[in-house]
Amino acid sequence: MKRMKDNCFNEFDPNAMSVEDALKNILKTIDNVKTTEFVDLKNAYKRILSKNIKSKINVPNYKNSAMDGYAVNIDDFNKTDKTFECIGESFAGKPFLKSVRKNQAIKVMTGGMVPSNCNAVIMRELVTENGTSITSKSKIIKDQNIRFPGEDIKKNEIVMRVGKQVDEIDIGVLASLGINKVPVRKKPIIGFISTGDELVSIKKPIKISQVYDSNRYLLHGLLMKYPVEIKDYGVVKDKIKLIEKKFKEASSHCDVLITTGGVSVGDADYVKDVLEKLGKINFWKIAVKPGRPLAYGKIKKCIFFGLPGNPVSVVVTFNLFVNEALNKLIGRSQGHALSLEAELLTDVKKRKGRREYKRGILVIENNKFYVKKSGQQGSNILSSVKDANCYIELGENMQEVRKGTRVKVVPFTLTSEYYG
Ligand code: AMP
Ligand code: MG
Repeated sequence: MKRMKDNCFNEFDPNAMSVEDALKNILKTIDNVKTTEFVDLKNAYKRILSKNIKSKINVPNYKNSAMDGYAVNIDDFNKTDKTFECIGESFAGKPFLKSVRKNQAIKVMTGGMVPSNCNAVIMRELVTENGTSITSKSKIIKDQNIRFPGEDIKKNEIVMRVGKQVDEIDIGVLASLGINKVPVRKKPIIGFISTGDELVSIKKPIKISQVYDSNRYLLHGLLMKYPVEIKDYGVVKDKIKLIEKKFKEASSHCDVLITTGGVSVGDADYVKDVLEKLGKINFWKIAVKPGRPLAYGKIKKCIFFGLPGNPVSVVVTFNLFVNEALNKLIGRSQGHALSLEAELLTDVKKRKGRREYKRGILVIENNKFYVKKSGQQGSNILSSVKDANCYIELGENMQEVRKGTRVKVVPFTLTSEYYG
């Protein structure tokens, strides 16, 4: 078998932390937001419930018809034809309130209240109407076409639990319960800053040796998926005094501060020095690729993530670490990445020592999952993420993975469901 030249190269760094340990370390320093606020139902979209929601009513709250037809009592029905005298009508919102006697029927519309002594609704299409009487030839089963009180939601039932992120269906359910103010957790404030002398605003023409500041836009987009308040603190040059000033200002207003760049071992990388000076640094090397240099810590109460500068590393470390941290902070019970196995369609290069998250394209053919790389895998090549729909997660000890191998895949949009 042909071997790659750098196959023996070992990326193992004794000072690097595993992804799991880094996550544990991060999560144990974070507590969820405690403050509740009540918001109007429409504004509860994407917010996190801070209390269980209990129904004060039955849904539906009265016995009603699932069809346009006739409400009858099955005990009046013979084995052969049956004729009923129709004595009134029941519309949704306009019930028939008098009593219904033997061999009598009520014309009932969908959603119309079914009188208490009626126990079946015959579809209109299945009866012969003859003046005020109706005849049915079809078989009737007790309770047919009737919707019972509480069959959707029972009074006092817990309908949604703390930690659920409210979606459009939940909004519909809450409306069906008559809830117009929803208890949700207050939005934490998440700020971000780009560092780098080379960065230039997207509104300006670019010169040689400059780079458009894409990370701030990337972060803004990534954060929009969370019920948080986003604050953009702009760009700071690679000057220790300026970085210090900016970090002090931003950390005093934010619950979480995310910076990109300046976190490695280069001569212009000051982020971890400033973090150490202003607050506490927990670690800064993780056995992961992309994303090894990552600073995590706190400046007073503000949670601090110093992400690497390369855009792909920003996305990967955000997905791996910031996502879990934000989920814990907002107290969201769903949204954790799920994985599956797929067969590699191409060879993939890998060195031992670090866990790698290659960007991939997952496809399904004949009910089998296959995955391939989405182009070049350099941590500066954001197109590899643009064209991807998943990560190919390759373990620390893996090297050079051959086509045909079954590998772990983490789809971008597959997140854990909410149960409860
Ligand atoms: P650094 O971590 O500061 O050494 O940056 C690593 C690489 O990421 C360099 O090529 C930077 O130019 C690039 N980079 C850093 N910050 C940004 C940014 N905000 N937008 C785009 N590229 C960046
Ligand atoms: Mg830099």
